[in-house]
Amino acid sequence: MPIQQLPDTLVNQIAAGEVVERPASVVKELVENALDAGATRVDIDLEEGGIRLIRIRDDGGGIPADELPLAISRHATSKIASLDDLEEVATLGFRGEALPSIASVSRFALSSRTAAQEHGVRLEVDGGKVAPLQPHPHPAGTTVEVRDLFFNVPARRKFLRAERTELGHIEEWLRSLALARPEVELRISHNGRLSRHYKPVRDGAERARRVAEALGEEFTSQCLAIEHAGAGLRLHGWVGLPTAARSSADQQYFYVNGRAVRDRTVAHAVRQAYADVLFHGRYPAFVLFLECDPRQVDVNVHPAKHEVRFREQRLVHEFIYRTLHEALASTRAGLAAGHDV
Ligand code: ADP
Ligand code: MG
Repeated sequence: MPIQQLPDTLVNQIAAGEVVERPASVVKELVENALDAGATRVDIDLEEGGIRLIRIRDDGGGIPADELPLAISRHATSKIASLDDLEEVATLGFRGEALPSIASVSRFALSSRTAAQEHGVRLEVDGGKVAPLQPHPHPAGTTVEVRDLFFNVPARRKFLRAERTELGHIEEWLRSLALARPEVELRISHNGRLSRHYKPVRDGAERARRVAEALGEEFTSQCLAIEHAGAGLRLHGWVGLPTAARSSADQQYFYVNGRAVRDRTVAHAVRQAYADVLFHGRYPAFVLFLECDPRQVDVNVHPAKHEVRFREQRLVHEFIYRTLHEALASTRAGLAAGHDV
């Protein structure tokens, strides 16, 4: 075969392989877009675990009508314009890949209206084929509908699990998001029934309420609040007492500058801080937020952005370890004295 340029739709479908693994990844990308657009409320409607339908409606800034076709073009973004911007990126998105990728592997519709526009518009894309823009009534904000995920990619569809399983992944991801953004109202419905409603709470003392809603009183009644700053870093949140340790690592939430990440340096520092207060095979529960200068952390490591790279890895490790080790000192004292903690 001679070398040839691949058609756009195929390029997008290939990229979708990295960004869109399952319905939960679609929900993640779309809700992140809503948050980047300044939404205060996001409605998430799902059918059949998101496989049949994912509809995300937000009350954010909306997309100007003339930019709608760009929103579904590859490498088109309103969030960065230069490498400098990338180094300091504060939005969750910046790669300009999610919408074109999702639109290439589903029956997709994007409707939006900015506050300045009188009428909304709608753009439909069927498996990558774009239909003409149409007027469409819409409140200020944006709605994205994704139907029949992977209908045109059988190899991918095969890997989708049962409705319950896919829904579980979506709910888990939304839980992680709800913990990070307590000021945002999230309503989740599945097959026409409201399944979860995270009411907005103000930052500060009320924040614990969101944590209780997301993780249960079992966690909030047995945790320590963390708040520590130094060396250009700030760590805050909650760590579970050793008595609230779990048999799996299912309640471990870590965020870097508001973005949920999995990181080995962080995981190691936390494990080490708990090493002498936990039994073997037990896992701490925690919700921790690390804030740092965005230039100190590279978020462009993987298309799905689950991973980050710290410039000063050892400093970060030491900071987390020390902060948590000290916070857990009281539980250690309890252990030494033979008390229940
Ligand atoms: P990225 O988020 O990396 O910029 P996306 O493909 O997810 O790329 O979105 C492309 C662009 O479409 C965004 O940069 C943004 O301008 C616009 N957009 C997408 N979703 C929304 C939304 N819910 N509200 C407002 N604008 C949106
Ligand atoms: Mg995005």
